[in-house]
Amino acid sequence: MTSSKKILAIQGDITQQAVDAIVNAANNSLLGGGGVDRAIHRAAGGQLLEECRRLGGCATGDAKMTKGYRLLAKWVIHAVGPVWRGGNQGEDELLARCYRRSLELAAENDIKSIAFPAISTGIYGFPLERATRIAVTEVKQFLQHSSCIEQVIFVCFDTRTYECYKQVLLELLPEL
Ligand code: ADP
Repeated sequence: MTSSKKILAIQGDITQQAVDAIVNAANNSLLGGGGVDRAIHRAAGGQLLEECRRLGGCATGDAKMTKGYRLLAKWVIHAVGPVWRGGNQGEDELLARCYRRSLELAAENDIKSIAFPAISTGIYGFPLERATRIAVTEVKQFLQHSSCIEQVIFVCFDTRTYECYKQVLLELLPEL
């Protein structure tokens, strides 16, 4: 994939992205789960789980980084999004924090390109459009004050997610 755009959405599989870091929608244990987490562990190989075991879990809204092992990406940033519980349990802020922490880790480690899945919108049940607005807003705000990260790719697994990201990007970043 070649593009000069700084923030973009594509439809595809995050495990196949040739970026410096991919973000995993992990759970608190960091010991693997379903969805994108399963796909990333399968593609990276067993050494990823070995490293994750040494991290001692991760709080919701936080993120931790490992190597990418057999992935094309050098790093995996494991972010733990909130489970949707109706919207009054701090879900919006916890999801925003996930994106911010992932971007902070990336910037601290000189990562130039990073790919995100649609965190919390699968098994964790966060409403898609609401989550997409949070994701795009956080990335936009972060890139306004950080010059290290050159490209952020939202990797959408299904057409519905891809269509939603395209629409929200057009609305919140019309200059792109
Ligand atoms: P969560 O538990 O945070 O909701 P899921 O893995 O269930 O995480 O879903 C998050 C998003 O990741 C969903 O949009 C799902 O379709 C998507 N997804 C699943 N597999 C992949 C993959 N290989 N690449 C990119 N996105 C994926």
